[in-house]
Amino acid sequence: MSIPTYSRCPAAHADDPRPCNGPVDAVRVIDRTGASATGCVLHGAVLLASLDGGRVYPLNGPAGSAIAVHRLAQSLPAFDFLSGAGR
Ligand SMILES: [Zn+2]
Repeated sequence: MSIPTYSRCPAAHADDPRPCNGPVDAVRVIDRTGASATGCVLHGAVLLASLDGGRVYPLNGPAGSAIAVHRLAQSLPAFDFLSGAGR
């Protein structure tokens, strides 16, 4: 199995094969230690759902991107790509 080599947002997990959804810097996701990563709506939501106490802030995406990430994250299990859910 080969992994596509197109570039994805920094929030995309190496084991998540899905392409980005929208701008790659739509939002910034910050964990409770203050470490942050920029991401698209999809990968930002996956990352947020995988964090304990994570937060999301709008960055360069369309208006409402952070809210969309927050809502999507609430519907996802942590590391949803490992279970195949959310596809
Ligand atoms: Zn992405």
